Amino acid sequence: MKEFDYIILGGGCAGLSLAYELDVNLKLKDKSLAIVEARSEYKRDKTWSFWKISDHNFDDCVIKSWNNFSINTKLGSVEIINKEYPYQTVDSGLFYNKILNRIKQNKNIEFFQNTKQLNLENSFIFNSITIKDNYKENLWQHFKGIEIETEKNIFDDEIFNLMDFDCDQKNSVHFFYTLPFAKNKALIETTWLSKMNDESLKDYDVQLKKYIDETLKIKNYKINYQEEGAIPLFYPQSQTKKNTINIGSAGGMTRLSTGYTFLNIQNHSKYIVKNIDKIQNLKSYHIGKKYEFLDNIFLNVLKNQPDLMPKIFLNMFKAPSKTVIKFLSNKSNIFEDFGIILKMPKWIFIKNIF
Ligand SMILES: Cc1cc2nc3c(=O)[nH]c(=O)nc-3n(C[C@H](O)[C@H](O)[C@H](O)COP(=O)(O)OP(=O)(O)OC[C@H]3O[C@@H](n4cnc5c(N)ncnc54)[C@H](O)[C@@H]3O)c2cc1C
Repeated sequence: MKEFDYIILGGGCAGLSLAYELDVNLKLKDKSLAIVEARSEYKRDKTWSFWKISDHNFDDCVIKSWNNFSINTKLGSVEIINKEYPYQTVDSGLFYNKILNRIKQNKNIEFFQNTKQLNLENSFIFNSITIKDNYKENLWQHFKGIEIETEKNIFDDEIFNLMDFDCDQKNSVHFFYTLPFAKNKALIETTWLSKMNDESLKDYDVQLKKYIDETLKIKNYKINYQEEGAIPLFYPQSQTKKNTINIGSAGGMTRLSTGYTFLNIQNHSKYIVKNIDKIQNLKSYHIGKKYEFLDNIFLNVLKNQPDLMPKIFLNMFKAPSKTVIKFLSNKSNIFEDFGIILKMPKWIFIKNIF
């Protein structure tokens, strides 16, 4: 059995971000690290987008960034300009390559496909693997996206569409999300906020085709890439053992009302590495109790009155753009929180506290 000072369970976004942060900060000069990752090859499997509200290590993996975005609903649309916090898209393929090229040179880091050869007893564990369970009754953000390339220049690549609710809602919350990477290339996603037990919401290919044909009115295109996933809008069960810190989605890094996780993972990695010398007694890292509280009310409204959500999002984005972005990226101050709360239908939110 092999022993390591640190073991990272799961070499995905959080596991690799942490390994990179440890390596670049020279925290592995006299410490050893094992990364346990089930997959045998890394390739682009996710497209991570977020408002760049804090610095991160992966600006060179950003394939596009925007200062403008729009929201569409049947009740109206808004276009938002924000030069302060660009919305960035990171290609996971570039991210994996960058990290692996760097950490594979460090002799103190070893990869394993499972824990069979490892003695976990004396190591400090960073765990990003969630315990699989039947969570069908919980809320998820589930989606499929395709990156299409058109013959002609069709897209305005200066502005992306964050949410287009002008589509079939099926008593749920449904929107399309379009990221134009170039005038002839865009990632288009069909996204649902719902429980996972309604199979009729999952004919993603049919939904995408209809949207591209009928709403975007694009006839000729090829599909370059596809991704499909489900982000838990609840805190998944994970390990609560001594000498273990949960990271990534398993560590509560997902913002429940939005699914945004990437930048929280980066901030959590920086926090761990900054405090690695006193890791045994480290206070746990939270996105923020106030966001947990507010997001739970928000999700109750979403569960009980999904039909209100397009209007709620539209109104939220009528607040000053800096305020909304900081709120959605969990960096708002109390005045900004109130700015958002005042845009919400107060009586409905109060009812849903209980
Ligand atoms: C398709 C998709 C798109 C997303 N887009 C965004 C976005 O735009 N912005 C945003 O902020 N967030 C986004 N997210 C949410 C979040 O950022 C990602 O899910 C992110 O990958 C979470 O990182 P993680 O390390 O917790 O999980 P993962 O990246 O999934 O890493 C977990 C790793 O553990 C490995 N593993 C699992 N079980 C085992 C096992 N038993 N043994 C060994 N290894 C195991 C897996 O292979 C995986 O590599 C997206 C999620 C998905 C699924």
